[in-house]
Amino acid sequence: MNQDTLTITPLYSGSSGNATLVSTADTRILVDAGMSCKKLVEALTQISVNPYDINAVLITHDHSDHISALDVFTRKFALPIYATNATWNGIHAAEKKPHSPSLDYEILPEKETTIGNIRVTAFETPHDAKGSCGYRFEVGKNKAALATDIGYMTPAIFEYLQDCDGILLEANYDKDMLWNGPYPYYLKQRIAGLFGHLCNDDCATTAVNLCKTKARKLILGHLSQENNLPQVAERTVLRALEQESMQKDKDFIVQVASRYCPSAPMILG
Ligand SMILES: [Zn+2]
Ligand SMILES: [Zn+2]
Repeated sequence: MNQDTLTITPLYSGSSGNATLVSTADTRILVDAGMSCKKLVEALTQISVNPYDINAVLITHDHSDHISALDVFTRKFALPIYATNATWNGIHAAEKKPHSPSLDYEILPEKETTIGNIRVTAFETPHDAKGSCGYRFEVGKNKAALATDIGYMTPAIFEYLQDCDGILLEANYDKDMLWNGPYPYYLKQRIAGLFGHLCNDDCATTAVNLCKTKARKLILGHLSQENNLPQVAERTVLRALEQESMQKDKDFIVQVASRYCPSAPMILG
């Protein structure tokens, strides 16, 4: 591992809670703080990361599956937090006890920020949370991105992903499982809507386009518990890639992020 090696480790992924560690040899960034503080510490301990060694927490948006641990976690470890202005409003509204404002940093989409030796850029995502964004990370020549909670893949988001070596991409629901499933109609419409989540088919189309440009490693994440299964999401993406004559483990690697425990890291460079 050299100074430029970029590692993406999903700690928890899915509608039950999201957190991902993005790290290099000397920098650790936590993206989102879902689940609980206890569960986050547990996951970090499992991958031998001391929470006090985290340089910053980046938040994608203010839905509870991304911030439910933030309140306690940041008061306990006093870490700098980065979020867009609109997301900050949501975080403050959800806090039980306010944390020190000296820890708050505003992130502006499309403007690069440097945290440790990682260059970070936020990009806007179509989702039903104000100020919602995804993140792109660069160290030397290595680039990775996290793109979940996306109603649909926009050309602007694709621009941020297309030269990345590895991407954690949303595969939220299988269309048949959603429409034949138990959710009330209004919720089905919300999930499948332009400001909802990315389905397996759209994830697969994006995966093909990404692998045609640069990507070699993909993590499918933020799977719905009720409307998807890891094997269904993986099969949909693999089929689409293989239809384009791309071979698994030769031309690309696909893994599905685990819901309740840290996943194998995606290592770039
Ligand atoms: Zn959301
Ligand atoms: Zn979410």
